[in-house]
Amino acid sequence: MSLIAVGTMAFDAIETPFGKTDQIVGGSATYVAYAASNFVKPILQVSIVGYDFPQAEMDELKKRGVQLEGVEIVKDKKSFFWSGKYHLDMNTRDTLVTDLNVLLDFNPKLPESYQDAEFLMLGNLDPTIQKNVILQMRKRPKLIVMDTMNFWMEIAMPQLMETLKLVDVLMVNDSEARQLSGEFSLVKAAKKIMQMGPRYLIIKKGEHGALLFHEDKVFFAPALPLEVVFDPTGAGDTFAGGFIGHIAKTGDISFENMKRGIIVGSAMASYCVEKFGPERLKEINKADIDLRIQEFVNLVNFDIELV
Ligand code: AMP
Repeated sequence: MSLIAVGTMAFDAIETPFGKTDQIVGGSATYVAYAASNFVKPILQVSIVGYDFPQAEMDELKKRGVQLEGVEIVKDKKSFFWSGKYHLDMNTRDTLVTDLNVLLDFNPKLPESYQDAEFLMLGNLDPTIQKNVILQMRKRPKLIVMDTMNFWMEIAMPQLMETLKLVDVLMVNDSEARQLSGEFSLVKAAKKIMQMGPRYLIIKKGEHGALLFHEDKVFFAPALPLEVVFDPTGAGDTFAGGFIGHIAKTGDISFENMKRGIIVGSAMASYCVEKFGPERLKEINKADIDLRIQEFVNLVNFDIELV
């Protein structure tokens, strides 16, 4: 089953307590594609880059079954650039720079060959662009999943509210859920957000795992306790790619299968954080992924006899 992945393809400069990079490849759609392509092909990528985005990275993505017909290349502008610095706990970070560059002119036209895709992953991006992509689809996909972040809540809240009405699943982290809903309790926040449009809500809590809400049901998945957390950049997008990749592979959009999707997403994210940028995601194979999923099963499995 095919999957459209919309988002940024970017350069990032990252500082963590363990090191610092100049410009390395990043972007929400890059991480989604690297993660999801382990489960489903083709990935139909929708993004925009400038003259400076490396051809080698495009070739690497193509090799993994990522189609780039929907990636616009602007010859006289730079790619989107983001820079962030992580705090000591690695769960929180400050954005130092957001240079929209090519993103300022981004008005994606969905290629005809993308029209029959069953799944749509709207990676973190301007909510107006996310909405435009949904509206271009002649047939509504089976499932529309959307990611967003505080940056868009601060500069485009009314547009974000419009896009939320059109999606099935929203993914945000805990502080973004609080910001979007104005509620401190995540349970109250989830109830409010699910009234804004999405019937399912995933709240990511970094090293404390993730919650899935639907109607009055809630599922919790821990994050794997890791020895090495080197760079959390892209963990959220990688989680999203693993989640939607699993759903698209199985074609099953039930709550039960979304629970499995969350474990798959968490396993992928646990690899992402082990090296800078998407480096680690390029090294792993199916056996590595299966191993981590099994570690999750072992982590939460126990027997108890109630007498
Ligand atoms: P994550 O760590 O999963 O939240 O994602 C980090 C990635 O998001 C980086 O590779 C950035 O290039 C990208 N990013 C940062 N800010 C934005 C933004 N405002 N819109 C879209 N993508 C962004």
